[in-house]
Amino acid sequence: MISVLKGTHDVILDEARKYSYIEELLVKVAELYNYKEFRTPIIESNELFVRGVGEGADIVRKEMYTFLDKGNRLISLRPEFTAGIIRSIVNNKLYAINDFPIKAFYVGPNFRYERPQQGRYRQFNQFGIECVGVDNFYRDVEVISLGYNALKLLGFNNIKLKINSLGDAESTKNYRIALNEFFKDKIDSMCDDCKDRFNKNILRILDCKVPSDIEIIKNAPKISDYLSENAKKEFEDVLKSLSDLNIDYEIDNNLVRGLDYYTGVVFEYQYTSSLNKNYGALGGGGHYSNLVKEIGGPDLEGVGLAFGIERLASVMNDDNLFDDLNQKLDIYIMPFEQKYYEKALKISNYLRLNGYSVDVCYENKGFSQMFKKAERRNALFALIFGENEIENKTFVLKNLKTTEQIVIKDNELLEKLDELFELNEDEHEHNN
Ligand code: AMP
Repeated sequence: MISVLKGTHDVILDEARKYSYIEELLVKVAELYNYKEFRTPIIESNELFVRGVGEGADIVRKEMYTFLDKGNRLISLRPEFTAGIIRSIVNNKLYAINDFPIKAFYVGPNFRYERPQQGRYRQFNQFGIECVGVDNFYRDVEVISLGYNALKLLGFNNIKLKINSLGDAESTKNYRIALNEFFKDKIDSMCDDCKDRFNKNILRILDCKVPSDIEIIKNAPKISDYLSENAKKEFEDVLKSLSDLNIDYEIDNNLVRGLDYYTGVVFEYQYTSSLNKNYGALGGGGHYSNLVKEIGGPDLEGVGLAFGIERLASVMNDDNLFDDLNQKLDIYIMPFEQKYYEKALKISNYLRLNGYSVDVCYENKGFSQMFKKAERRNALFALIFGENEIENKTFVLKNLKTTEQIVIKDNELLEKLDELFELNEDEHEHNN
């Protein structure tokens, strides 16, 4: 037997429906904020991520799936979307008409060679947005609120929004110097990842999860003491606007996020399910000032966020946040004998073209077996016919919920079904 690869998983049947439900809702919310869909390639040049996301980021440094293609190009599977979206904006010169911001949303898989654990896969799905060409903090607030409102609409209560500001170039420069001073005589006793981060991106040390390192990090200088006057004012403006929108937040000075391109505001949505399982952050994002330029475009700033669909689905499962998503089948056709299959095929085709979901029992089973199959398929009605019905040009239509059954004339089938389904829908709305 050939198994699914480590760190990957099949999303099938009911679970796939849940993923679609989440993705569709997120897309709807993005459209409420006037975002437009972008579908960029899964494979990109390796250089895009090295330059865009940064060599210091874990996902680039050690988690990328990279290979040489037959033309000797160094290719990577995308570990995140933002760099590709920005590349696409730059390649397609979407900035040329000078109408900002450019608002992009995306949905699809990313690949990271991570150590598989709860909430962490090597192929996982993300929904996200990028708002590019922004020159004031209201766009940061709008992006944060989009994520917050989307989680509310999915049914989440008690979302914890963690937020921090990495400040502008001047603030981070000074802060890096202070961190360097602080860690330089402690780094030898810290983990290998921290040693690496010390040289490549010292801010990421703050994100370390090793307990003995956490103790050291507790006493490190705080970014809030190094923000320039401008950066401080902007962060205060963002926080005030979030309060005005009734968005609860908690400032976390150690929040730096895993990607190197962030400057200014960074944030994360956290939530612990009622089963107390920790799946990590549901999503997060931040503001970036240099990414567009880094990828060869003009000097534009942007802000974005991404949610992990796997994590959303796991938490929603734990907390029973999914409504009844069972796929219903409108009609299950049950021909008595094999000689009626041809007719069943024609009717099923006709009904499907008229918008009904239909399945046919071509398995030549006894009646009770056929009803069991109908039940397993969540069918609402069974359409039954045999010799008598063919002779009289009729069908038997059985409501599988009420078990009520009626005889319908051949040429009135669609009319009758339309009537019944309209009635059913009214009842459904009434019950809700
Ligand atoms: P990031 O792109 O690292 O900012 O992550 C954004 C969101 O994507 C996270 O909050 C998670 O929900 C999700 N995510 C990131 N990495 C993984 C992974 N390996 N497996 C599942 N979800 C992930």
